[in-house]
Amino acid sequence: MENSSSQLSIKNIYTKPKITDLELINIIGIRVENKSKTSGLIQYLNKNFPLEARDIDFIKRIKTIGSDTYCVLYPLLNIDDDTDENTNLQRWISNVFQSSDDELLTKENHVFKTILECSDHQQAEKILKLFKIPKYGPKLKYQWKEWNTQYWPLKTVNLYETELQLAKLDPKAELNVNSHDEKSVETCTKLVIDSFEKSKRVSGLFFNPQTKTIVKSSIHDELFLDESKNSFFSPYYSETEGTLSNLGKFKCSLRHCAVVGVDVIAQYCIETIEKLPPNTPSTEIPYLCKGLDLFISHEPCCMCAMALLHSRIRRIYFVHECGNNFGGLINKVNQEYCVHENSKLNHHFDVYQVSLN
Ligand SMILES: [Zn+2]
Repeated sequence: MENSSSQLSIKNIYTKPKITDLELINIIGIRVENKSKTSGLIQYLNKNFPLEARDIDFIKRIKTIGSDTYCVLYPLLNIDDDTDENTNLQRWISNVFQSSDDELLTKENHVFKTILECSDHQQAEKILKLFKIPKYGPKLKYQWKEWNTQYWPLKTVNLYETELQLAKLDPKAELNVNSHDEKSVETCTKLVIDSFEKSKRVSGLFFNPQTKTIVKSSIHDELFLDESKNSFFSPYYSETEGTLSNLGKFKCSLRHCAVVGVDVIAQYCIETIEKLPPNTPSTEIPYLCKGLDLFISHEPCCMCAMALLHSRIRRIYFVHECGNNFGGLINKVNQEYCVHENSKLNHHFDVYQVSLN
């Protein structure tokens, strides 16, 4: 997931999906005696024992082992793990054949006897076999490859190459990871790092990836350093300085770098729109941060992240993680704002942590 050149490192910030580890269950397989009847058997089983009903519709019905073909019936649950598989299977078969009176058989067992076309359990034992299959379907391609070869043929639906794709349920997510304008990312990152080191204040700039230029306005320079001039409360600094208890010292607690930045962009949009000819198509009229990338020395807090979301930011690249649990983007235990990927919100964007080594 990391994209490195000689100096630059770009890490995608996203919530890692929970990937289920391999867990196995037993399933009864029947050896197909007359292979010309295989498709008929599958149809019959799909009707009477649908795999969906057992939440295992990610497996295929048929597996060929040497010259034999096996078809799965349904999982054998609640088996005694201390007993070997054959004994478990024999017990189950005896159960099925226990009653000679069809009236007393469960529907399942009745159907079974029909499929088996066996008169007794000795015959059944010869054509039935227990197999192990994954309890949950694979989510990533590598899981599919491993499980498909080792256990049972599996379908390839809804598989993702990476955790990122899975997290975003977006097959193109990986493309975004790899399509950085590295030269510009490096330049902009260096600018915000230098500015932060000089001013000791959160520093940011907006970059227009289409024109490959840093956004400037007539009243502000490209770096949003004026949060220091406006007296601000920032969660980014030391544990002692930036706490709620000394909030009152500051004239305005909300003038964080990103918020100041959005103001600058709004001003920039007004200036640009004033210069546009009257019948400019709406698609060419700028709207706040739409289409722009923010480079910022620190991870925006949740307030700033929401302000950026509302202003339709395209991407955020930040250098330092936000301290004191104020960060709005990185997924942490007990603090899961992850504003950029919240499915309940109406705009989503990609976030990267960058470093220059
Ligand atoms: Zn903030």
